[in-house]
Amino acid sequence: MELRYELMRPQEIVAARTRTPIAYVPIGPMEWHGPHMAVGMDMLHAHTMALEAARKAGGVVLPPLPLGTETYTDAERLRHRGFEGSERIYGMDYPGFALPSLYIEESAFAIIVREIVRGLKRQAFRVIALVNGHGALNHRNTLMRVATETTEPGRVTVLLAGYLYDGRYREHAAIGETSYLLAYHPEAVDLSALPPLPKPLGYRDFGVLDRQTVVGEPTPDFTVAPEHDPRRATPERGRDDVAYESDRIARRVAEALAALQPA
Ligand SMILES: [Zn+2]
Repeated sequence: MELRYELMRPQEIVAARTRTPIAYVPIGPMEWHGPHMAVGMDMLHAHTMALEAARKAGGVVLPPLPLGTETYTDAERLRHRGFEGSERIYGMDYPGFALPSLYIEESAFAIIVREIVRGLKRQAFRVIALVNGHGALNHRNTLMRVATETTEPGRVTVLLAGYLYDGRYREHAAIGETSYLLAYHPEAVDLSALPPLPKPLGYRDFGVLDRQTVVGEPTPDFTVAPEHDPRRATPERGRDDVAYESDRIARRVAEALAALQPA
């Protein structure tokens, strides 16, 4: 059964909504994810999580939004990534990278997401899951604000989902995200673009950020810890992570729907 909104005719969307009035909106900007991964990583991951959750819980999946916002990294986080702390670095636009990322300004991002939610509410969807793949703090806060502003208690719930909320851990372009891409879009990964093992991968040299540096406990030499090294990624791990994430999302949207007043 088709779950992808853009491929459904209006009466199919109405039938799906009548069965389960849940809509998923996958979100992620086109962003540097190391030299070894396609820039669409976050958006692709969000789309896969949404499709798998919809297979389990019902509902329709909007086409993924290739959008996200960013800001300048604060001094503490810069030091955690091996910088001095005084640099001005916007998102993943590190010095020397081949291509800056495509971010949009925070207020524009909020307006677009809010307008899409407004349209889905007019179509009588009652649970709207913003399935997010991008980790920037201001990006997540913007989504949280839109979700809170557009939720109508008892009638419509707008919630945040995605691996930042439903996954096992956070990282950027390390073993987890690389495993996802290997599993679902293997043509979009080229591990030979990284130096061979066991040469260490500097955080700031490659833009590969492991769980340690994301939680503020970087390795002493600011290189990716061996257990989070993207060169050890496997498709099995990627599929296992998506199963875990989509189970959680499916459970949360079903609970949110059950908690609403009858239509
Ligand atoms: Zn990512």
